[in-house]
Amino acid sequence: MNVLIAEDERRLANAVAQILREHNYQVDVVYDGRDGFDYALAGDYDVFVCDVMLPHMNGYDIVRELRHKSVNTPIIMLTARSSLSDKVQGLDAGADDYLTKPFQPAELLARLRALTRRQGEVVIDEMQFGDLKLNLSTYELSCGKKSVTLSNKEFEVLNLLASNMGRTIPKETLISRVWGLESDAGDNNAEAYISFLRKKLRFLHSSVKIATQRKIGYRLEAE
Ligand code: CA
Repeated sequence: MNVLIAEDERRLANAVAQILREHNYQVDVVYDGRDGFDYALAGDYDVFVCDVMLPHMNGYDIVRELRHKSVNTPIIMLTARSSLSDKVQGLDAGADDYLTKPFQPAELLARLRALTRRQGEVVIDEMQFGDLKLNLSTYELSCGKKSVTLSNKEFEVLNLLASNMGRTIPKETLISRVWGLESDAGDNNAEAYISFLRKKLRFLHSSVKIATQRKIGYRLEAE
């Protein structure tokens, strides 16, 4: 799950990012309204947490412009005041929800879960593809009686490939989805994790293979 946070109070932004990362969210943080808009427009985010008062472009304008450009990413606005007009203005601009600062981390997490559910994401515990089962809460990957536990990144890579079975995922997409747009991760990281996953698939004697499409990306194939 990829989350973008635009919040110019750096301590708050970083604290929120930290909490979300601990809950296995992939997080990008920007401290400026213009960056928030650019990232939300270019990136592939599941949720955008956007402060109202931001330098260079305020939250209402960001949301309005994004909706105008048909970006449908669910947006939670952070407002400093709890006045009704602030909330109405945010929702009118096209935000899906709002949170008044200060807020408890648990509240933000609950709102994120609610929004991503509303997005039509099916809440399931297990994913099946080919002869494999992937447990989405324990990250256990099993084939028949054999099983292994995936690391966070291995899980995210495999989850992305399995959700797009048979389709080639470009390396850049893989990197931005799993490591985030801001990270320094490159082709080497992607290649390393693909190789870890291949080892695990071999260990499981699975018929599912990660195919490489040269110079493009990877795709998951079941025989
Ligand atoms: Ca602010």
